[in-house]
Amino acid sequence: MKQKTIGKKVELVGIGLHKGVPVKMTLEPLAENSGIIFYRSDLGASIELKPQNVVDTTMATVLGVGEARVSTIEHLLSAIHAHGIDNLKIILDNEEVPIMDGSAIGYCMLLEEAGIIKQNASKRAIGIKKPIEVKENDKFVRVEPSDKTIFDFAIKFPHQAIKEQAYKFTFSTSAYIQEIARARTFGFLSEVNYLRSQGLAKGGDLSNCIVLDENGIMNKEGLRYKDEFVRHKILDAIGDMALIGMPLIGTYIAFAGSHKLNHLLTEKILSDDKAYEILNLEDYAEEEGIEYSVATIPTI
Ligand SMILES: [Zn+2]
Repeated sequence: MKQKTIGKKVELVGIGLHKGVPVKMTLEPLAENSGIIFYRSDLGASIELKPQNVVDTTMATVLGVGEARVSTIEHLLSAIHAHGIDNLKIILDNEEVPIMDGSAIGYCMLLEEAGIIKQNASKRAIGIKKPIEVKENDKFVRVEPSDKTIFDFAIKFPHQAIKEQAYKFTFSTSAYIQEIARARTFGFLSEVNYLRSQGLAKGGDLSNCIVLDENGIMNKEGLRYKDEFVRHKILDAIGDMALIGMPLIGTYIAFAGSHKLNHLLTEKILSDDKAYEILNLEDYAEEEGIEYSVATIPTI
């Protein structure tokens, strides 16, 4: 398996979910072993994708270096990661990634328009070697060793439209597009005024967010999946775990996980060199839905 980037430069314009300001996003190919790099064209500042650069996880995952910020990166990263892209430059002329329709499908379409190309260097992955967990009251996120990449998420909200939902997703690009990519972000009408007083959710509306009031779902079109809420949490988790910088081979399990807990989990994994090994996927075939076998992949 080889590293991948995109075939050509592509761009789109939209608004940010929290700041509500227009932003142009340009994606450009990058050379092998470059990783994912954000660039604020208005500030001339580069921000590398790594857990040490996370500066906020309150309502979205935010990276920062010095004064420069890139916000609400998780849905875009989720789509990039799901397409197996290792090297990419993401150029923004403002602080926040365009929210699109609140899901990842718009980014998937943009990446497909750009085309995904193989590079010469071997692809690498992180294989989980022992369970690592982060807890907060009854909430937790955890990774465990596995020969596949699995995201197993459960949520519980005291709202009749959500209640308890659980979803177990075995990763492949095609399964991601079918099962996860279209799941939108969601919020409660009762929290909108508070969020806006905090400078958040200013760009949020029924075109980019499922909004719940005391009667149910306010969006006239209804849901895209009956369990769209928990599927979106998996979309977020895939994006947040992409901060590790390589595909994860292991099982991710969460109850009521959040951007904050996901960030703490990436830091905890990378701070314990007995928790993981870096795998060389050179001899692995390119087909979708591959079952990696950690034991048979040479470590670097
Ligand atoms: Zn989200």
